[in-house]
Amino acid sequence: TTVGVPTEIKTDEYRVALTPAGVRELVDRGHEVVVQQGAGEGSAITDDEYVAQGARILPDADAVFEQAGMIVKVKEPQPVEVARLRPDHVLFTYLHLAPDTALTQGLMDSGATCIAYETVEDPQGRLPLLAPMSEVAGKIATQAGAFMLEKPLGGRGLLLGGVPGVAAGKVVVIGAGVVGLTAAEIAIGMGAETYVLDRNIDRLREVDFLLNNRCSTVFSTTLNVERLLPEADLVIGAVLVHGAKAPHVITREHLGLMKRNAVLVDVSIDQGGCFETSRPTTHSDPTYEVDGVTHYCVANMPGAVPITSTFALTNATMPYVVRLASAGARGALEADPGFLAGLNVAAGAVTYEPVARDQGREH
Ligand code: NAD
Repeated sequence: TTVGVPTEIKTDEYRVALTPAGVRELVDRGHEVVVQQGAGEGSAITDDEYVAQGARILPDADAVFEQAGMIVKVKEPQPVEVARLRPDHVLFTYLHLAPDTALTQGLMDSGATCIAYETVEDPQGRLPLLAPMSEVAGKIATQAGAFMLEKPLGGRGLLLGGVPGVAAGKVVVIGAGVVGLTAAEIAIGMGAETYVLDRNIDRLREVDFLLNNRCSTVFSTTLNVERLLPEADLVIGAVLVHGAKAPHVITREHLGLMKRNAVLVDVSIDQGGCFETSRPTTHSDPTYEVDGVTHYCVANMPGAVPITSTFALTNATMPYVVRLASAGARGALEADPGFLAGLNVAAGAVTYEPVARDQGREH
């Protein structure tokens, strides 16, 4: 198989889908790898490093899509990329289709086989290709939230950790998965008073254990959210229903309960957002205000730290890329039901139930 790696073109996206180590794994198994010129630059990987492991460098994205049978990317394809897809292409990348009907339709029309990183499952039903980026996003969520609380940036003007003699700020994390746990770890590390909410009691038990009871775990109900909001300086939204549109855990009305210039960070924005007032933002213009509350809703948070994220992502994706290249999409997916859960669109149809359900499509 010829595996193609185009340069990412989403705003402020500096990751790349394959590292020189990945090229080596593929080439050693007899595959060909074509990389767009400069694709690794944002992650401090040079064309020469790819070539040294056996890749061929192509001048532009058109050439990569033309010559490759399999396209590996990081972010969901942008319209110009969708237009390059053919029915014989296998596309392996983050897709986040549930909130995006236009992209879903574009991929259906392309006829390509589209496998989403974020819905591939491991034998325990966890999301091995989402987890490394969730770890990165969880750390950034608290860090960015703390920063946005500074007065010159429009925040309340409060130091999350407090100092001796002055109380710490309060952080409320809704959703105690990979993002939530990591965000809470950092909040605790900064010295903030931290609350973690989830609907899964077993998970809350685990969080209590993992964080050594250094935060309060709270069962996630509307009433409990309403009780915590007036106290919160920073709220981090990190809920996920696998592959589906995020539920709204904070409504517009709830903003009225919050302190002026408190900060909301909606990490779930890639699945449509878990606050009613969220809309996607970019690293160059990350925040906006609604009813006196700062919203930070960057949809590709890990893109800001590519030197960490590219390697964290590709460590996880690379074995799957090798399986796809070696066994073909059909062979690789049929051999592993968890991998098959990654198939979102094939032969013009949506093949992933939560996406079909959220968009009222046949599946
Ligand atoms: P996860 O599956 O590990 O955790 C999600 C948690 O949400 C689960 O524990 C689940 O029980 C909980 N949950 C579901 N519904 C809930 C509700 N109504 N109230 C409270 N909790 C609820 O998922 P994750 O890996 O932590 O990812 C969380 C979100 O962050 C996903 O949407 C993911 O795509 C997103 N994400 C965004 C970025 C970004 O750059 N913005 C990066 C990485 C991940």
